[in-house]
Amino acid sequence: MINKKEFTERVFNPNQLSGFNETHYIKLPVDFIHDLSQANSLEDVLNKIAFWISHVFNADRASITLQENEEFLKLYSISGNQAIPLDFKIPIYQTFVGRTFATAQLMICDDVTQSNELDCQMLAQHGMGTCMDAPMIHNDICIGTLNVADRRKHHYSLQQAILLQCLANWIAMNIKLHLQVQEMEVLASIDELTGAFNRRIFIQESNQTMLEFYNSKTPFSMGILDIDHFKTLNDCYGHKAGDHVLKVMSERIQKVLRANDFLARIGGEEFAIILPACISKEAVQVFKRIRTAIEMMQIHYDEHVICLTVSIGIAEAKIHDANVEGVFKRADKALYRAKKSGRNQIYLAD
Ligand code: GH3
Ligand code: MG
Ligand code: MG
Repeated sequence: MINKKEFTERVFNPNQLSGFNETHYIKLPVDFIHDLSQANSLEDVLNKIAFWISHVFNADRASITLQENEEFLKLYSISGNQAIPLDFKIPIYQTFVGRTFATAQLMICDDVTQSNELDCQMLAQHGMGTCMDAPMIHNDICIGTLNVADRRKHHYSLQQAILLQCLANWIAMNIKLHLQVQEMEVLASIDELTGAFNRRIFIQESNQTMLEFYNSKTPFSMGILDIDHFKTLNDCYGHKAGDHVLKVMSERIQKVLRANDFLARIGGEEFAIILPACISKEAVQVFKRIRTAIEMMQIHYDEHVICLTVSIGIAEAKIHDANVEGVFKRADKALYRAKKSGRNQIYLAD
């Protein structure tokens, strides 16, 4: 039996397509370069690339996928035909674009109606005839794919394959740069041990929340939480056990909080929680749940079962607070009172 694929599919190694000498040129619109150099976020870069690639190839559809995890690519940007919707998670296994990614080869499907792969079928159902997908490779690692499609079957030439691969190589570097900036921003905002936000982001977030409070009068409450006798816990079980406790406790608090609530580790064993749109009466209920949840925890570490308690001071933002430090100071005072009156308690500031 003749394999249909032989007639419908062409595969190129990117090195084959990149063996240029000084007589080879590619022509690009000046605005493409200009637009890309002005892009200020990954989303912006991807949208601009999708737009310009579709323009350069006069394609009925252009799209970009990036690797989401071991199993999926995610479709981030589309220009033109919406055969495969945005944010669609494309399985790497058993799709044409997935094979492009996994093999890091440029592939042309000359007739998508002949393919039994999911993405080609979706394209065919929406009137597409051909697709060409190029791997975006940076430092020998494939980070995603750059894809074009056309209504006409057997449409793409070798020249166009060379152009797409050339652009994919160049764009990969640009995307990687933005991905690295994103990663660094995350790293710079997270406390490594607990995964909660760090003090720097807490200051940023609390100032922003205060600004919204002044502007829209949306209430908010803040709680400062400090582990009781943590020094003794470290002395008894060791510093590593203490670290484990901080991590597990932070995860437990996160489970009590809503998606919009904000948890940060602001000191060694001190955490701050911002509850947006929450008056003090409701905040007390939330912090009661947190205090109880922590008191009930039995943390297993080596042969030990560790129990702990926390003290919490709460303050609701008031219109006479000159700034967010005012709210913080009142919560901190309340925390001091909770400590003074025996620990494992919650105090609400006046
Ligand atoms: P109190 O009830 O008054 O808050 O007593 P405390 O012992 O919790 O408070 P104190 O300020 O005396 O001690 C805090 C301890 O927290 C001392 C320090 O070694 C410990 N600590 C701070 N950061 C870390 C950390 O990252 N890991 C571990 N394991 N311990 C830490
Ligand atoms: Mg403490
Ligand atoms: Mg402390």
